Amino acid sequence: MIMAQSRGKVSLGLFLCAVRKRWSWMRYCMVCKQEIDPMRAEAMPDTRLCAEHGREIEKFGGEFKLSASQERTSKQGSLKLNYGGISAQRVRNDLAMEKLLDDFERKQFEE
Ligand SMILES: [Zn+2]
Repeated sequence: MIMAQSRGKVSLGLFLCAVRKRWSWMRYCMVCKQEIDPMRAEAMPDTRLCAEHGREIEKFGGEFKLSASQERTSKQGSLKLNYGGISAQRVRNDLAMEKLLDDFERKQFEE
């Protein structure tokens, strides 16, 4: 399926990848809108939080959580047994992010 895709789409993907990489140093924290430390952005390419809020969100369970899912690698109708097993996926912890934003707004209000 993917193999059948046009070359155009593939190179666009690569282009976006390069753009994202280039811009990784100017990302901003979702909570306080401060610039994310370039070192941190480099080490955690998918973080949306500055160092401070990266620490803060830990008390709500962390920015990411692991989601286990059953791997489905065998083709449908295949007689071959597949013991694929469980794979853990890192997913965004939206609930924790929500709580963190809540917490932040409340603090702003109090100060
Ligand atoms: Zn922040």
